[in-house]
Amino acid sequence: MLLAGKKALIFGVANNKSIAYGISKEFKDHGAQLAFSYVGEAIQKRVEPICQELGGDFTFPCDVTDDAQVAAAAEMVREKWGTVDVIVHSVAFAHRDDLHGRYIDTTRDGFKLALDVSAYSLVALCKAFEPLLNPGASVLTMTYYGAQKVITNYNVMGVAKAALEASVRYLAVDLGAKGVRINGLSAGPIKTLAASGISGFKQILDHIEEHSPMRRNVTTEDVGRAAVFLASDLSSAVTGEVMFVDSGYNVMGI
Ligand code: NAD
Repeated sequence: MLLAGKKALIFGVANNKSIAYGISKEFKDHGAQLAFSYVGEAIQKRVEPICQELGGDFTFPCDVTDDAQVAAAAEMVREKWGTVDVIVHSVAFAHRDDLHGRYIDTTRDGFKLALDVSAYSLVALCKAFEPLLNPGASVLTMTYYGAQKVITNYNVMGVAKAALEASVRYLAVDLGAKGVRINGLSAGPIKTLAASGISGFKQILDHIEEHSPMRRNVTTEDVGRAAVFLASDLSSAVTGEVMFVDSGYNVMGI
């Protein structure tokens, strides 16, 4: 029960394949109190039963590109909980057109959208929720190896993840004085709704199975267990880091 007594806000459950769902399940098993964001009615219909299934306290709307919704979400959470101990940011989006072919063809609008939803949103959430964060609180965001190396077709999302990882380091300094930590979890590829937008995703999964040190792909449970570590006091002096949960793939050369 590493998270007993901790209140965890989860941004980014779309369905029970979502990485945020796997994280939430592990959080529940470790005694965390949970609340879930959703964006739009279709996702709300999927998130509400998941909130019930996992014994969550409440759900709330939050399109992370809309400052008014982010502020309203923070106000609602303040009214319901007063304070927060864990934030999971598991949110990303890019146009399907920008997830294949040549990176050079990314449009200005496609770039702005991907960076806004997938990177700036972390900054916006940290700013809005900063007054609610307890000393010792932990913020987690989800990143991918495509931030650091070129992954075919990942394109603008790789650039967004690079901005996200750099933001983790800068935010670690801003939040650290209050004892708040922030880290990235770099998950290996997992078949989710977001991943279905990436061309040739199946080949990436096959490649990892063949070439990673552990010769297998990761699951949302694998990611969830690492998230418990980063959210809990076990990682009390870990901040500004990107931790890989990828069957070791990132250590490989040829
Ligand atoms: P997912 O589709 O289940 O989750 C993506 C979430 O982002 C959804 O819940 C969606 O509603 C939310 N979202 C999109 N636009 C939003 C907006 N404007 N406001 C609020 N929420 C919005 O897919 P996932 O794979 O679980 O993705 C979660 C995170 O994990 C993403 O940051 C993704 O880049 C990252 N990640 C995924 C993989 C993978 O292979 N699946 C690997 C590493 C990192």
